[in-house]
Amino acid sequence: MGIRSRYLWAGLAMALGACVQAPPPSPVSSAVSPGSECRSIAALIAFDFEGAPASPCAVLGERDFAVLVTPEHAPPINPSPWYAFRYESAGDAPVTVTLRYLGGTHRYAPKLIKDGGAASDLPVTISKDGTSATLRLPAGRGTVTAQELVLPGDASADLRRWSALVGTVPFSLGQSHDGRPIEAVRLGRVDAPRLVVLLGRQHPPEVTGAIAMRAFADHLALMFARDPALGQHTQVLIVPQLNPDGVARGHWRANRGAVDLNRDWGEFTQPETRSVKLWLDALPQGVRPVAMIDFHSTARNLFYVQGDEASAAQQRFLASWLTGRENTFAGYDFTIEPRNANPGSGTAKNWFHAVYAIPAYTYEVGDASDRAATRAAAAELAAGLITALDQMAQ
Ligand SMILES: [Zn+2]
Repeated sequence: MGIRSRYLWAGLAMALGACVQAPPPSPVSSAVSPGSECRSIAALIAFDFEGAPASPCAVLGERDFAVLVTPEHAPPINPSPWYAFRYESAGDAPVTVTLRYLGGTHRYAPKLIKDGGAASDLPVTISKDGTSATLRLPAGRGTVTAQELVLPGDASADLRRWSALVGTVPFSLGQSHDGRPIEAVRLGRVDAPRLVVLLGRQHPPEVTGAIAMRAFADHLALMFARDPALGQHTQVLIVPQLNPDGVARGHWRANRGAVDLNRDWGEFTQPETRSVKLWLDALPQGVRPVAMIDFHSTARNLFYVQGDEASAAQQRFLASWLTGRENTFAGYDFTIEPRNANPGSGTAKNWFHAVYAIPAYTYEVGDASDRAATRAAAAELAAGLITALDQMAQ
């Protein structure tokens, strides 16, 4: 049994006491297999779809289940306890599911999707110490997720939409551990000298960042479609899902290589980060990154930007793009957090700043930020980006 299996089963036993109903772990492979489920005579919960981690579960009663929400590898990591499962039940009575967190506490307000409709918030009772959360699910069938599902197929559809707008084709930068393509699209000409790099979803659960990035890129693609002259001097590389394996497998943080991709910039030990590096290394002569924005999620809306190390030109970019706009978007207040580069920390922000001497920011969206306001602010910020690049060049 691997370290992860031992960890999971010890945790499950700890969390559930003697109630563990699942079969004993196999001595050779992981105890947790994709498509696992727990079933009683009245109901079932299952983890057999993309985005759902293969969580250990237990039947506590006919309509009462427990799910152990665990990271893909042992802590320490930045806890982002992601969960996703579907359920089916007979009769009219609700189903109770208790999420038991191992290595983290309750973070994401559960979303319920019933009958293919839109996701709605689901009432939740959280334990005092935050290590468990109990959900009462309406009878019938539905899907419960920590945040809205934005899966590799959704990113592919986005890329095709942006491509169609500007008349280019999506392409693959490389492959993930599991063999998924690291998909990208370029707005503007291949030889346009100014390159803006947009990265998304290094961290799988950070869906609000993905929501902002989609609206941001939608707006940029429209700008490039309406004004072909823009693409003569500026191009944008959009990589919406740098960690497709983690997204598909419902990881909390890491890729399939058990590495936090946003600590791998510089070392480039992972195929996903390396694919971006190799693409940058092969840029035509005269093309150079001028800005990088990396979309994430955290407790509240903020931008991590360069601190004292920002050059005068970089400060002009910041002043034009973000400064003074912190409270100007309805429902989307944000803060600007200057952080001095910490060489060797391996974040995309620090690597792009250190290597190219450009503004390289982390665009953090609050977990619970209003989605419509997030999208509206992102579109306005996209509109301001080109102006800020012009200011920086002066
Ligand atoms: Zn993140």
